[in-house]
Amino acid sequence: MSELQKNEELLKITDLKTHFFTHKGVVPAVDGVSIEIPRRQIVGVVGESGCGKSVTAMSVLQLISRPGKIVGGSIRLDGRELVGADINEIRSIRGNKVSVIFQEPMTSLNPVYTVGRQVSEAITAHQAVSQEEARQRVVDMFKAVGIPEAEKRYKSYPHQLSGGLRQRVMIGMAMACQPQLLIADEPTTALDVTIEAQILHLMKQLEHDFGTSIMLITHNLGVVAEVCDYVYVMYAGKIMEQAGIFDLFDHTAHPYTKGLLNSIPKPTAEKRRLYNIKGMVPNLLRLPKGCRFSPRCEYARPECFEHEPELYDAGNQHLVRCFLYKNGGGPA
Ligand code: SF4
Repeated sequence: MSELQKNEELLKITDLKTHFFTHKGVVPAVDGVSIEIPRRQIVGVVGESGCGKSVTAMSVLQLISRPGKIVGGSIRLDGRELVGADINEIRSIRGNKVSVIFQEPMTSLNPVYTVGRQVSEAITAHQAVSQEEARQRVVDMFKAVGIPEAEKRYKSYPHQLSGGLRQRVMIGMAMACQPQLLIADEPTTALDVTIEAQILHLMKQLEHDFGTSIMLITHNLGVVAEVCDYVYVMYAGKIMEQAGIFDLFDHTAHPYTKGLLNSIPKPTAEKRRLYNIKGMVPNLLRLPKGCRFSPRCEYARPECFEHEPELYDAGNQHLVRCFLYKNGGGPA
């Protein structure tokens, strides 16, 4: 039994469909996505911009606004259905049981209030604690997320902190109510590689110390490799491949995932042109018939242009949406 199976599931997204009804037509941004996040696990959702990973996360928080709408599927958090739930129930979950951190902390922090006050308000908005108790919890959380001179930083304004410290404040704010699930949407994209490594290490530490499950959304497979236990690869609104972290890198199956991996620069490789996946991500208003990756796939065969592949079982909790794996096979 794998590590994933041993852990009880916290979030279960089943056949989620979130579509956007634009004047040009219906955009199926998330089109039948199923994702499970067990307790005490870091699960990666990886893919290019526009593949639907952030819309999936926003759907969990029920933050889809018009012209978007969840048109099908189920999202269960700790056994409770979130799709169609009462808005008061959703509000009590946001920030309390589920928190989110975004890519650019400067756009999430209010520049006219001190960071301590903002995190403190995040606590008092959700939990019945005194101002002094909230203040102490903020200072303790700032220490836990590695902010030096936490007492002093409590009184700092966002512009007085570096990008790395601001992101630590955001993580501190997200963790302040000790949520069961932390959704991190490209949390290190705006940071340099040294700070990125520190933030990823911090997230791993939080998962270990607080038992928080983390849904890590990123376009970067290097980030996934650093911290994730299990990974979902998304393309054009669908999951194309899902596997445990070692299996994904050791036995990469889907031609799209292979393309993503081949396009990562390798410092030890001989000098050569960097691989790029030919063609463009499809326009979701005009999806190709059959496999969504078929116009870009070097393994495409006639059935790929006619029929849509299912997720086929490649063993060891590894699923692949590709006809090459229909009978447990794979490209030569
Ligand atoms: Fe390529 Fe066909 Fe597999 Fe799609 S189903 S990824 S087109 S081989």
